[in-house]
Amino acid sequence: MNANLFQHLSDAIADTSKTAIETSDGQVVTYDDLILGAGRYANALMARGVGPGDRVAVQVEKSVPALLLYLACLRAGAVFLPLNTAYTTAEVAYFLGDAEPALLVCDPARRDPLAEVAAQAAVETLDAGGEGSLSALAREQSHAFPTAVVGEDDLAAILYTSGTTGRSKGAMLTHGNLVSNALALIDTWRFTADDVLLHALPIYHTHGLFVASNVTFLADASMLFCPKFNVDEIMRLLPRATALMGVPTFYTRLLKHPGLSREATAHMRVFISGSAPLLAETHREWEAKTGHAILERYGMTETGMNTSNPYEGDRVAGTVGLPLPDVEIRVTDPESGVEIATGEVGMIEVRGPNVFKGYWRMPEKTAAEIRPDGFFITGDLGKVDERGYVHIVGRGKDLIITGGFNVYPKEVETEIDLLPGVVESAVVGVPHPDLGEGVTAVVVSEAGATLDEAGVIAALEPKLARFKLPKRVLFLDDLPRNTMGKVQKKVLREENAGLYSA
Ligand code: AMP
Repeated sequence: MNANLFQHLSDAIADTSKTAIETSDGQVVTYDDLILGAGRYANALMARGVGPGDRVAVQVEKSVPALLLYLACLRAGAVFLPLNTAYTTAEVAYFLGDAEPALLVCDPARRDPLAEVAAQAAVETLDAGGEGSLSALAREQSHAFPTAVVGEDDLAAILYTSGTTGRSKGAMLTHGNLVSNALALIDTWRFTADDVLLHALPIYHTHGLFVASNVTFLADASMLFCPKFNVDEIMRLLPRATALMGVPTFYTRLLKHPGLSREATAHMRVFISGSAPLLAETHREWEAKTGHAILERYGMTETGMNTSNPYEGDRVAGTVGLPLPDVEIRVTDPESGVEIATGEVGMIEVRGPNVFKGYWRMPEKTAAEIRPDGFFITGDLGKVDERGYVHIVGRGKDLIITGGFNVYPKEVETEIDLLPGVVESAVVGVPHPDLGEGVTAVVVSEAGATLDEAGVIAALEPKLARFKLPKRVLFLDDLPRNTMGKVQKKVLREENAGLYSA
């Protein structure tokens, strides 16, 4: 049997004339359009020399052609490598050097700087749209394409995670990972062909690409596809949807909309949240206002989804629910790795068909994070309660999650420390009413240096993706340290806990 996700997807579709996607500006895309379009794009990739196993790096705005390219890569047995649209040219250069893709597809507006760094990495660049572009090439191709026969263990995608030491790691996801996870979610969340998912997530991330899109397609459902999250647009489209998947920020912003009510959401089947902790308070406010209990789930780039609150049964605020079918969770002592008792906080480890194959060309990192018995060490601290519900209590790696995006403090600190006049810095996440956490930098400057907040932010702008930029930069004479000389980030977080509350 062909384990190709695309094969599963085309087998799942009962009626190919059915609408798969409707864009927020009214463009209708049927499953036929998707399948035939993926065939044309797959032929276009072949024409540019892309073969099975080759990486295709893609940095483009969210669009239907971007999804066609994803499906085409699956179909051709190539490895889809989506890049956050916020990544700077310097950041993309790193990914190209590391992944050695056969092709980089980018938006025409960014072609010049990207083609230059791609050429240095000996990678061909192609515009996504316009004259001489991949889409133009695809239009000339036949739609017939024999879907590549792959095994469950063959790579479907590489998604880069932020690196704690400043270097990103490419998580290798297989066809088996993606198919098993999507089927588990369809089952857990009761997705059917009658569902219409309101899709407002980015598609370079596991949430919008795999959870939202794969679930929709494998359920033979359809989606309302928004270029980005906009509260008014969500409210406009909501009456036609049955399900919404979002990061907590979606829900906190929607709660402020005057139109959100029981009546406006009465027809909805499910509201799902993940990628960052949903405040128990948001959960309660949402239920009070709409009558729906948000269904929170937990996952990550390396594993897809691990746990979910139940569809039927208690959706417990402040918890991420129960392990998905075939997924095992255990909690261990972070130092010794020994499993600890129910209810105690430790390192969350995960094993199952969802767990990635390893980090691209980083065998040591892979061996350090996937144990010989197959459990992946997530880096998240948490506990499992008496009823089996998983609670995430913190992040071992000091990761900041801002508006659903991950920011590793170390990466921002490294850039700040390079600025003239800076002695050292510490970057922490501080509670933010809109973003969950706000990236906050604390800087110690040299005596006599004329650094100020605006100057630091301006100097970082060309170096870091927008979501990584500090929202505030504070200055201190010294960083608080413990007796071992370690910077006490906890103190910085506590002292600045109210920074964004005004
Ligand atoms: P990413 O790889 O970008 O999907 O980020 C994964 C990280 O997001 C996880 O390791 C968790 O730290 C965090 N995360 C995802 N979902 C949740 C959730 N429901 N509650 C708390 N943290 C979450």
